[in-house]
Amino acid sequence: MKVTVIGCWGGYPAPNGATSVYLVEHNDFSLLIDFGSGALSKVQNYVQLTDIDAVLLSHYHHDHIADIGVLQYAQLVQYYVDGKEDTLPIYGHLEDEDGFASLTADYTKGIAYNPDQTLEVGPFAITFFKTKHPVPCYGMRITDGTHTFVYTADTAYEDTWIDFSQGADMMIADCNFYAHQNGEAAGHMTSQEAALIAEQAHIKDLILSHLPQYGDLQKLVKEASQYFAGQVHLAHEGFVWYGR
Ligand code: ZN
Repeated sequence: MKVTVIGCWGGYPAPNGATSVYLVEHNDFSLLIDFGSGALSKVQNYVQLTDIDAVLLSHYHHDHIADIGVLQYAQLVQYYVDGKEDTLPIYGHLEDEDGFASLTADYTKGIAYNPDQTLEVGPFAITFFKTKHPVPCYGMRITDGTHTFVYTADTAYEDTWIDFSQGADMMIADCNFYAHQNGEAAGHMTSQEAALIAEQAHIKDLILSHLPQYGDLQKLVKEASQYFAGQVHLAHEGFVWYGR
C-alpha cells in the first residue's frame, strides 16, 4: 500500500498548496481520501484523472470537499473528449443531506457509507470512527489486508481514538494546533494530543497534517516527539508512505 499526501493544510491552502487530499494506492487501485481546495490541480501531478477509481469523504467542510464540483466538470469534459461514460463513485456519509446530494452529477455518483459497517472499496476495507467536530465527521481505519493506517480526519482529542487506532502501522493525524494551544472548541488536535494517541496505540509512523499556516511547523514535530517514541513526519505535498 502506498499513501501520498497531496494536500495537508487546514482550513485554507497556503500559497501553491491544497487542503486535505490523500492518494491511497494498492494493486492498481487509486482511492482519494477527501478532496479539498486545490486538490484537482495537485492530484494530476500524481495520478491521471481517468485512473481515479473512487473518492471517500470524511465530512462536508469546505476544506475537505471544495474541489468536488470541479472534479465533476472534469468528468463531464472527459466524456465529451473521449466518450468515457464511467461514473466515478464518491463515498460520503448521509448526515448532511445537501452535502451528500451534491456528490451526484452527470458522471459522479454519491454512495452513502454506513459508518457502523466495514466499507469495501477496491482492495481496501475501511472502518469508521465518529470524530469530535462541529459537524458530523468520520475518521477511518484503512487496511489492504497486510498494512493498516488511520486517518483521523478532523477531530478534537478523545481517548477512544486509542482503541480505534491500536496497532496501526501509520496514522495521519489532525494537527491543526501547537501544543500550547487548545483545539477543543474548533474540533481539532494539538501536536501533543496527536502524539499521545499514536504512542498509546503503538503506531509506527505518525504523520502530522491538517497543518496551521502560521508559526514554525518544525516545532510541531519537536513537540510530538516528546510524547511519541516512533517516527514523526510533517505532512507536505508529495510525501509518500509505504506499508512495510
Ligand atoms: Zn472540518
